[in-house]
Amino acid sequence: MCYAPKQHDQRVRDIQRQVVRVEPLVNMGQITALLNSLGSTLPVLPELDDLTVGNSLGWTLPVLPELDDLTVGGLVMGTGIESSSHIYGLFQHIRVAFELVLADGSLVHCTEEDNSDLFHAVPWSCGTLGFLVATEIKIVPARYWVRRQYEPIRGLENICRRFSEASEDKNNTFVEGLQYSLDKVVIMTGTMTDTAEPDKINRISLHYKPWFFKHVERYLTENNTAVEYIPLRHYYHRHTQSIFWELQDIIPFGNHPVSPCSGGWCTLWLCPFVLPLARGMVHPKGEEAELYVDIGVFQMLYADEYMERSEFWVMFVGMLISPELGCRDAFPEVYDKICKAARH
Ligand SMILES: Cc1cc2nc3c(=O)[nH]c(=O)nc-3n(C[C@H](O)[C@H](O)[C@H](O)COP(=O)(O)OP(=O)(O)OC[C@H]3O[C@@H](n4cnc5c(N)ncnc54)[C@H](O)[C@@H]3O)c2cc1C
Repeated sequence: MCYAPKQHDQRVRDIQRQVVRVEPLVNMGQITALLNSLGSTLPVLPELDDLTVGNSLGWTLPVLPELDDLTVGGLVMGTGIESSSHIYGLFQHIRVAFELVLADGSLVHCTEEDNSDLFHAVPWSCGTLGFLVATEIKIVPARYWVRRQYEPIRGLENICRRFSEASEDKNNTFVEGLQYSLDKVVIMTGTMTDTAEPDKINRISLHYKPWFFKHVERYLTENNTAVEYIPLRHYYHRHTQSIFWELQDIIPFGNHPVSPCSGGWCTLWLCPFVLPLARGMVHPKGEEAELYVDIGVFQMLYADEYMERSEFWVMFVGMLISPELGCRDAFPEVYDKICKAARH
């Protein structure tokens, strides 16, 4: 599962390296419970016993995709994004090392320096190069609260300008937007902090709280800019309860009865992310890092793909990996796992 070395001195060394080593089935819910400092109970696993103090280590992942059940393996082999991605990139950009079992049964360790081609080819490869069995990922210090600002913005031009400003401002640890119609957005920025103004605390994950996207919509309806303090773990899993807004389609009476689709518009999540200059299937077009926006419907290879094979391989770069790895004979290619026509 998720562990640090048993020897205290080694553990300190890993903390100094700011790295955690995890097996691929560890999910985001487990990892936040383990790493951050909320004092919540750890899943009791024997190999974690010496890490109960780890609960107050005060660490977190720089990029922590929102849904509890997303796994490290899936996020490395597919992709993962969070409202901190404008600073740290996608989930795969916080990796330091991988261990893979290849088609011939060999175990390979890869980092930026060792087996570097494989290291860069793994993200987005969807398990077509080998089985991931361990990953080392970066961690960063955590604070108890997220100070969150909600800003309703109207008009496409204003939205684009304000969203770009917020995404380029590195003082914002978190940036995201919820778009309720073509020209109505609530832009949210946040920073981690150890202190909170008591009258502005909002523990958004408590069971009686409104679903998050409904809570945010209020600021738009009331045209009100506001600040709240949200416990970090509640913040991370703010979309978990309602699976963004999908649960409302499944259980319309689960919250209050206003539809998430008004006038044919379905609420969109806007999340900026930086694509660092690096090799691999997905990289910037130019010679430097580029800022993109995931607009909720953008196909990050976890949605069904409708492109032709040739179009797919123009858009994504399949390279780096030598035929000697034997993966072509052992595994399907990414297109055949993603594309609906190829799968059925
Ligand atoms: C409803 C929904 C909400 C989502 N919300 C978010 C979100 O908030 N933020 C975000 O970033 N993403 C989100 N995603 C996308 C999600 O992050 C990606 O689909 C991610 O790849 C899924 O992770 P998973 O753990 O479910 O992996 P899976 O879907 O199980 O696996 C993804 C791919 O990785 C391969 N794989 C998994 N483990 C291994 C392994 N150990 N070795 C080799 N190959 C492996 C699988 O074969 C598969 O091809 C969402 C997806 C859905 C369906």
